[in-house]
Amino acid sequence: MSPSTPARSVVPTWGRALDTTAKVLPSHARSHNRALVLQTLAAHGELSRADIARHTGLTRVTVSDLVAELIDTSLVVELGQRAEARPGKPATLLQIDKDAAHIVGVDLSDLATFRSCVVDLEGTVLSTHEVDTGGATGQAAAALAVEAARRAVAAARAPLLGVGVGTPGIVDSRGTVLTAPNLGWSDLPLQDLLTEELGLAVHVANDANAAVMAERRFGDGTPDLMLIRIGGGVGAGLLLGGVPRLGAHFATGEIGHVVVGTDGGPPCACGKNGCLEAWLAVPNLRRGLAAAGDDGTELLTEAGRRLGIAMAPVVGTLDLYEIALSGPPDLLEGPLLEAALRTLRERMLIASHHDLRLRLAALSDDIVLRGAAAIVLGAELGVS
Ligand SMILES: [Zn+2]
Repeated sequence: MSPSTPARSVVPTWGRALDTTAKVLPSHARSHNRALVLQTLAAHGELSRADIARHTGLTRVTVSDLVAELIDTSLVVELGQRAEARPGKPATLLQIDKDAAHIVGVDLSDLATFRSCVVDLEGTVLSTHEVDTGGATGQAAAALAVEAARRAVAAARAPLLGVGVGTPGIVDSRGTVLTAPNLGWSDLPLQDLLTEELGLAVHVANDANAAVMAERRFGDGTPDLMLIRIGGGVGAGLLLGGVPRLGAHFATGEIGHVVVGTDGGPPCACGKNGCLEAWLAVPNLRRGLAAAGDDGTELLTEAGRRLGIAMAPVVGTLDLYEIALSGPPDLLEGPLLEAALRTLRERMLIASHHDLRLRLAALSDDIVLRGAAAIVLGAELGVS
């Protein structure tokens, strides 16, 4: 089997919508249709060939042909026949073999500990691994990122589809980290480096962009979703119509140093006052809570209010319906979340946003790991 070498073509890849100007070759149509079959099986579970034809609009002949190829590469297995009430030949059910290939996910967002994992094709985490960084930066940090990936690769018990990496910083669509100040990286071709070191397909993305993919694929996210990660900093990942948006400078969702309001605010590491990060970053909230000496309701309410003020124009402009917050539940749940939603509602046209959803992310600590794996699934198999 060779799940690591599917034909890549017009299947939308990371951060790109389908290219409608590119000529569609027969081989492209085939890989597009194969991705469609896999996507349908991923979404619905056990299906017959006739079910797949119905869901996709492909002919039964085309579906049978593509399924034969997928069975050949072990990605799809026959389960046996469905018990049917009506007479005639019962249909054979098919499903994706979640262990036909595994995926390695790497999370570099915790500067003290790089994490990696092996997941199956359904996104279930099979093993996790850690590398203490000792605060390393620059080349040393890059070497430790390779080491974190290697540990998971060594633990894999199935052929690997690829390696996905979520990293802090601004990352272009080729997996070069343009800038990640906390890791001392600028113009670091991390994807090329890992590809060379590991000999596998590697996809590198910003950690918030990986997280939003996890929430969409394995949580209960809708195709139009903004996920805000609140940790050492504040950043967001954005999906519109199911497509990740990277922006003109690959910096979509870099909202941490947007100043909220005109009344100043706490000083920020960047030199300004009142940045979203100054109000909301976890270390700042924890420090504030310790200093307040009360139950922290006032502090958390103000942080939530500032988040709502910053988000209202974004939600209005993009006509978003769903926003997920990812971070420590003890800080985000309760006063902070309630104040953010209240502020958003106060500042928006209720008629068009009456159903606005602001909630905690369904996934928790492993959101970046599983999101990095989801990016590999999308890029290598067209399953998103
Ligand atoms: Zn700032």
